[in-house]
Amino acid sequence: MIFFGTKSVYLKAEKAEIKSCPKCNAKESLVNHFFSKYFYILGIPIIPAPLHKWGKTVCTSCEHILKGKALPLKARKVFQSQKDKARPKWWEYSGLLLLGGFLIWNMVNHSLAAKKMIAYLSDPKKGDVYFYEKENGRYSTIKVRGRKTDSIFVSFNQYETIEFWAVYGLDENANYLSKHGMRIEEIIEMYEAGFILDMKGM
Ligand SMILES: [Zn+2]
Repeated sequence: MIFFGTKSVYLKAEKAEIKSCPKCNAKESLVNHFFSKYFYILGIPIIPAPLHKWGKTVCTSCEHILKGKALPLKARKVFQSQKDKARPKWWEYSGLLLLGGFLIWNMVNHSLAAKKMIAYLSDPKKGDVYFYEKENGRYSTIKVRGRKTDSIFVSFNQYETIEFWAVYGLDENANYLSKHGMRIEEIIEMYEAGFILDMKGM
């Protein structure tokens, strides 16, 4: 299987502006056929290839093919304008549509997750654990010890990790020593600034 490249696509047929076939003399027998190309990746059409459109004039009676200068001037002009108007098929944009759909899906998902996270952070409970990035670029955890209206008591983990995936292993009771007061608002600000990256149980 070839992973990417271009493929031809048949666009449409239009009546040619020629009275009769120069070879078999059949009346009104000439038809213009138009083609273009599209790019594909893994067999999925991505977008139509720009400037890749062509056509030919074929006699339906004797299958004689007329091209370029073989056509009278008037027929050539009609051929050209029909070719310009021949639009790509919608499915030639499949890859682009899929990508657009994926991006929208991703955005919606992301904003739903953020909404859920803010709802949790706005109503902290004893035992909640936040996974966050420290100002030095390393990762650690914060544990909620208690709540008093719009403030919480938290313990900062005394350890940190270089890689984010490793931070989940730090959430051990023995690692939390100190106790500090924080406003719930501060926690939400930390999340919105991109420092709180996850929450236990999310
Ligand atoms: Zn003919």
